[in-house]
Amino acid sequence: MLSIVFSKVTMVLWLSSILLTPAQSHQRWLSAFHPPKDLAPKFTRNPQALLLASTDYGHVVHKTPWAVFEPCSVGDISSLINFSNSLPTPFTIATRGQGHSVLGQAMTRDGVVLNMTHLSNFKHGSGILVSCFPLGYCYADVGGEQMWINVLNATLKHELTPLSFTNYLYLSVGGTLSNAGINGRTFRFGPQISNVLELDVVTGKGEFVTCSPEKNSEVFYAVLGGLGQFGVITRARIPLAPAPTKVYRIHLLYNNFTTFSKDQEYLISFNERNDTNAADFIDGQLLLNNQSSLDLSFYPTSDQQRITSLVTQYGIIYVLEIVKYYDNNFEARAKQEVANLVKGLSFLPTFMFKRDASYEEFLDRLHALELLLTPQGLWDVPHPWLNMFVPSSRISDFNEGVFKDIILKQNISTGGCFVYPMNRNKWDDRMSAVIPEEDVFYSVDIFHSASGLDEVEKYQVQNQNILQFCKDADIKIKEYLAGNKTHQEWVEHFGLKWKLFEDRKAKFDPNKILSPGQGIFQ
Ligand code: FAD
Repeated sequence: MLSIVFSKVTMVLWLSSILLTPAQSHQRWLSAFHPPKDLAPKFTRNPQALLLASTDYGHVVHKTPWAVFEPCSVGDISSLINFSNSLPTPFTIATRGQGHSVLGQAMTRDGVVLNMTHLSNFKHGSGILVSCFPLGYCYADVGGEQMWINVLNATLKHELTPLSFTNYLYLSVGGTLSNAGINGRTFRFGPQISNVLELDVVTGKGEFVTCSPEKNSEVFYAVLGGLGQFGVITRARIPLAPAPTKVYRIHLLYNNFTTFSKDQEYLISFNERNDTNAADFIDGQLLLNNQSSLDLSFYPTSDQQRITSLVTQYGIIYVLEIVKYYDNNFEARAKQEVANLVKGLSFLPTFMFKRDASYEEFLDRLHALELLLTPQGLWDVPHPWLNMFVPSSRISDFNEGVFKDIILKQNISTGGCFVYPMNRNKWDDRMSAVIPEEDVFYSVDIFHSASGLDEVEKYQVQNQNILQFCKDADIKIKEYLAGNKTHQEWVEHFGLKWKLFEDRKAKFDPNKILSPGQGIFQ
């Protein structure tokens, strides 16, 4: 009976949304749902807010929510969730950090988008607070709404830094902790989700929980890599270490993938042996002769022609990046350590390039690209990306079947392909994130930028070809930042963890209201 009444209400609201002005429709919506008085002013149906909430960095999926909720405190988030749960048919709530998902993961059609950014305008959010204790043990308490660039800037004031970052820092803390948060440093310190001491979470039941490996650990492990399914992360306690001031970057070029990946795995094995020579960051990039424009800005102008010729000759050149962090006083030592590392590697002779940068400049390097591309209209375009983890035992098959046979042969230019290995033992299996069942696996990122919808389709077809190839060749990849999956595909994605994931959903968000844009339970 209640659901019949509710569906009538829904019909009236739907009609009102098309017949009334936005302000009238907003009033109708509020009066039909009777939000508590203190919550009502925090819902907005301002067209600009709705427009922003109905798109993301991917520009592939678009869903318009009923309203956007702008919290002024963590208490408002609990009230919003409690309000939804109190209705006969609760509305969905899509927590939105910086909206840098690429497949609508932070969207909801007809539900409410919880705009976390709004919290950063208020003192009642957690902000960023650095604390230090005797023996130099330090951490930062940071609001889930904060961007990593702000965390970096705040901690650097104390000459401290988090250990684990993503390659781009204008992402929210809650957003990356809901996925994993990885980059070329993950082999050494693990993903960002392995670098959290404590969290505050408002669960899908509206309960405010402080959790850690010792306290309410089930919530803690559920939300880390939990794709926003179990709660809203409102604070994270992040361990800090002394910040280096400089970085030494080396690029080594290879025409042979087997040698390239063998050298990458050799470099990450140093860390396992606790060797002080270990690199701080290992990355890998493909230079493809079908890229619309090769970014050779790292290399001296005088060398760019011979690098281009190499790419033309071989079709693909693999670039191994080694980065060593150092303080001004230890430059010579850092460079000697890198020289020791490089001695054992088999790159193409004479194709080694070096650069120094400040620590901040290095961490924030993608933002420099954003500033360059934005005025040319090349940053805010559709991004049909494909990101995945590939087990080490099959990475050579992946190179042959995907890089050479699909990406190179299909000749659709890409924005860039990155490939680098990680150690499984830096991940905690109790967390919700899923990774391949091998000690070493690779992050493979295919960053497409499309000029229009036709191109999006081309890239989506290519992405499907790649996934199909992996399936046919029985390469047990795990997608990262996945989206657009059917329920059955999600069950397969989580594999052995599905039952746990489903049980956690039933326990912490029984009405299945949170993060519907992931498409896991809706
Ligand atoms: P949103 O897109 O706003 O949200 C993502 C998901 O998290 C949604 O399901 C949302 O509901 C949920 N969510 C958001 N905030 C919270 C919260 N406080 N509590 C609970 N759930 C929440 N990833 C990497 O790992 N490494 C990289 O190097 C990397 N580089 C990137 C570079 C660029 C240019 C871009 C666009 C993305 C990159 N990513 C990278 C992916 C990125 O980490 C994810 O897309 C991340 O979710 C973005 O954070 P966001 O704040 O924009 O999250």
